[in-house]
Amino acid sequence: MDDSISGSDLYRNVIKSLNAAGEVININPVALERLKTPRRSIIVSVPVRMDDDTVKIFPGYRVQHNQTLGPFKGGLRYHPSVNLSEVAALSALMTFKNSLLQLPLGGAKGGVAVDPTKLSKTELEGLTRRFTTELGPFIGSDKDIPAPDVGTDSQTMAWMLDTYSSEFGYAQTGVVTGKPVEIGGSLGRDAATGLGVVYISEKALATKGRQLEGTTFAIQGFGKVGMHAAIEAFKLKAKVVAVSDISGGIFNPEGLNIDELVRYVHENGVVKDYPQAQNITNEELLALEVDILAPCALDGAIDSNNVDSVKAKIIVEGANGPVTINANRVLYEKGIMVVPDILANGGGVVVSYFEWVQDLVWLFWSENEVRSKLKTIMTSSFDKVWDFARREQKDMRISAMSVSLMRLEKAMKLRGHAW
Ligand code: NAD
Repeated sequence: MDDSISGSDLYRNVIKSLNAAGEVININPVALERLKTPRRSIIVSVPVRMDDDTVKIFPGYRVQHNQTLGPFKGGLRYHPSVNLSEVAALSALMTFKNSLLQLPLGGAKGGVAVDPTKLSKTELEGLTRRFTTELGPFIGSDKDIPAPDVGTDSQTMAWMLDTYSSEFGYAQTGVVTGKPVEIGGSLGRDAATGLGVVYISEKALATKGRQLEGTTFAIQGFGKVGMHAAIEAFKLKAKVVAVSDISGGIFNPEGLNIDELVRYVHENGVVKDYPQAQNITNEELLALEVDILAPCALDGAIDSNNVDSVKAKIIVEGANGPVTINANRVLYEKGIMVVPDILANGGGVVVSYFEWVQDLVWLFWSENEVRSKLKTIMTSSFDKVWDFARREQKDMRISAMSVSLMRLEKAMKLRGHAW
């Protein structure tokens, strides 16, 4: 595998959409060049004592892409495919997402190349604590604030907070977000990305004169993003006809009872073989004739190979980079709206921002307050992108990137030296 920073398809896709938007807004070429390369890339090796007393060493990464607007911010991923280039691409997406959503934050991402399902809880804790120690000099509430992503969760963040705080002798709650509520987490953080996906779906439907109620959804991925998107869509009376995870998908044209399905998944671990539906493959799910298709698993789910089979009317990117640039072009030409990741899955970082603010002032908000503030940001961000897309006759991806770049370029120019 090409292990250079530009070696992954995801990185090349991010650069392509950056170039395309840069051209539309006629961005300063120095600013564009600066945004193509991360500001700092940290590579560490993480030794872990396994339960059988052997020591295994895992590669870990933290890429800090840009901090013009504020401290670096972005998730940490535990997955076997994690590599420098993928993390760099995801860190750039965080910069563009935070700028688009008007947050005072820069962009970063990190991860460890490990399959967390193959480690015991003790091994995972050892890995997380050692990874935190290695990242220690580079993170902090005013420097870089990690959060959960694929393969990590609130428990991972709790271990990080504890390890980082032990260097200080008192709790550093603002160093991570996505923590358990008991130790400074925000109400509503767990569901935030999925909620945002549904708020954005509602806005996208409204552009076509449609409402959420009765709308059909297919959701790929039933993790932190996909499951909460399904729960919220079901609550708002949309018809979730199909969901999937790594084990495969399930389909019921009458709509799935998501509350029952969540109970089934808690007992069985996967969606497969859920009695009230038929099993389908992930590929079949992506080809279903639905109003909204929300890919909420990993990047590259819809590419040149399968784009022609997509029959959804609207695609809402719950995951980061699930539709490749080539597939995006084909869908746009067919009149299928693709709401891009930096807008569609921004709910997570918005509530992470709320969590960080609450930790800094030690004043906590109710879940309703969190949800209503989240909805305001998601809907106003959608409106900005939609207005740009109509005015300039561009697709939603280029439009979202353009709106984001305009704010970033202005801030970079004001700071001057940051170029
Ligand atoms: P997660 O680990 O909680 O869930 C991932 C889900 O995808 C699981 O159901 C898993 O079984 C499924 N999956 C994995 N590989 C698959 C495959 N090959 N085919 C089909 N399904 C597969 O992760 P998550 O936090 O839900 O993140 C999902 C995506 O959303 C990622 O791209 C992540 O970067 C992005 N994202 C997450 C957040 C967040 O707040 N968690 C915020 C913004 C974006």
